[in-house]
Amino acid sequence: MTAVVTEATERSVVDAVPRRLLIGGEWRDGAGGATIGVEDPATGDRLAEVADAIAQDAIAALDAAVDAAEEWARTPPRERSDVLRRAYELIVARSEQLSLLMTLEMGKPLSEARGEVAYGAEYLRWFSEEAVRIEGRYGLAPDGGSRLLVSKAPVGPCLLITPWNFPLAMGTRKIGPALAAGCTMVVKPAQQTPLTMLALAAILIESGLPPGVLNLITSSSASRVMDPLIADRRSRKLSFTGSTEVGRRLVASSAPGLLRVSMELGGNAPFLVFEDADLDRAVEGAVVAKMRNGGEACTAANRFYVHESVAGEFSSRLAERLGALRVGRGTDAGVDVGPLIDADQRQKVAGLVADAVDRGAATLVGGGEIDGPGYFFEPTVLGDVPAGAELLGDEIFGPVAPVVSFADEDEAVAVANATEYGLVAYAYTGDLDRGLRLVDRLDTGMLGLNRGLVSNPAAPFGGVKASGFGREGGREGIEEYLSTRYVAVDFG
Ligand code: NAP
Repeated sequence: MTAVVTEATERSVVDAVPRRLLIGGEWRDGAGGATIGVEDPATGDRLAEVADAIAQDAIAALDAAVDAAEEWARTPPRERSDVLRRAYELIVARSEQLSLLMTLEMGKPLSEARGEVAYGAEYLRWFSEEAVRIEGRYGLAPDGGSRLLVSKAPVGPCLLITPWNFPLAMGTRKIGPALAAGCTMVVKPAQQTPLTMLALAAILIESGLPPGVLNLITSSSASRVMDPLIADRRSRKLSFTGSTEVGRRLVASSAPGLLRVSMELGGNAPFLVFEDADLDRAVEGAVVAKMRNGGEACTAANRFYVHESVAGEFSSRLAERLGALRVGRGTDAGVDVGPLIDADQRQKVAGLVADAVDRGAATLVGGGEIDGPGYFFEPTVLGDVPAGAELLGDEIFGPVAPVVSFADEDEAVAVANATEYGLVAYAYTGDLDRGLRLVDRLDTGMLGLNRGLVSNPAAPFGGVKASGFGREGGREGIEEYLSTRYVAVDFG
């Protein structure tokens, strides 16, 4: 396949990114002097080296966030809003460079990276608009004896931890509301994709963010840098996006300091297709819900439950669509699906497929790893997947669609809810009553009703059960970074 960007362009985009730690407005090397390598998952080649922070750097970053907290909290909301708005505009203006950077370090095709840049930037625009709408209230107490004054204040210095799968958007949907609310922060991106976050931090500085408001540390050991910050009583809030396993640990370690906590964790999304669904729309929605980000999304449809009368047709049409997708390096022309993030992830996906096939699932398309450099896996559809198959209970995080048939709505709802996760569900039906019933019956934080994509900066994103708590985006997103103050007022 032909590359749509030259090697020289790739190099210049990577070279333009600061590779050091951002502490108190200065780009610094880590105190230990070490660096960590960033790899292109499509080739296995080393792209760059970034600073490898140690605990001492993390404490310095928190010191800076604490020092800047009072002044940033006092900065007029309009000024905070203007910084966010300028950053939004710079990201949009530099969409091509940021998209390429993201494709190089994460692997997603350029078309998807452009989508994420637009989506990620939108959180900054949304929260620039929310910054000036933080409201309180004033009213008479029910007994008439006093007035109740309620206002909102920033929670204080925040710790923000993000994953590798959406290197920009998972950052902006925490950083946007935190800055809008008047909080300072220490940000720690995933070690596999630090470059996009470093580029974002540089853009925020260029947009006028004062020194110390946002501090950024990259590290080869997340616990080495984050444990001391979580234990530090000056930290007031932890917002984490990542796996449920790590989320559980972080909630426990946040308990002694009673940090405010937001957890955006793993998913196991069911995708339900009823007999009255428009099958064309359902197949289209399935391709989006499964293949966005190559399946490496917490919102990815993980299990397809299809009414027995249409399961065969749905499966073969989905197999035809997934089989036609072009897999390759994200910078090549016409590529629909990039590599998985690393060898471990590919091995996990291969193991889940092998388990399902061993238990009797039929491979309708794909099913295997693709040889060569990089961590590629074929888009795969498995039919007649038996109930005990591991991939129905485990987050696949890859381009694999297992299909299972059901007999009626009660059975569909029961299997959909039979998971510890509860991030998102998708349901396709032409019956309005059934659609509205499912809103109540499906135990998830979000539902795509006749739609395969739910993410939207204006909507509250988040889960229930082991998918976490707290919401990002929408009018709810900023509340995570605000505390409520009440004043009892008396006057003669
Ligand atoms: P992960 O291993 O949990 O890592 C996520 C982030 O946490 C990374 O920055 C990681 O740093 C850091 N981390 C790991 N161990 C830590 C510790 N002991 N203390 C502090 N930080 C720690 O998850 P992942 O594999 O990167 O991401 C995939 C997971 O994220 C999936 O389960 C997916 O569903 C979930 N996700 C959820 C949402 C949502 O909104 N619900 C969105 C996207 C992804 P290192 O890189 O250094 O390990």
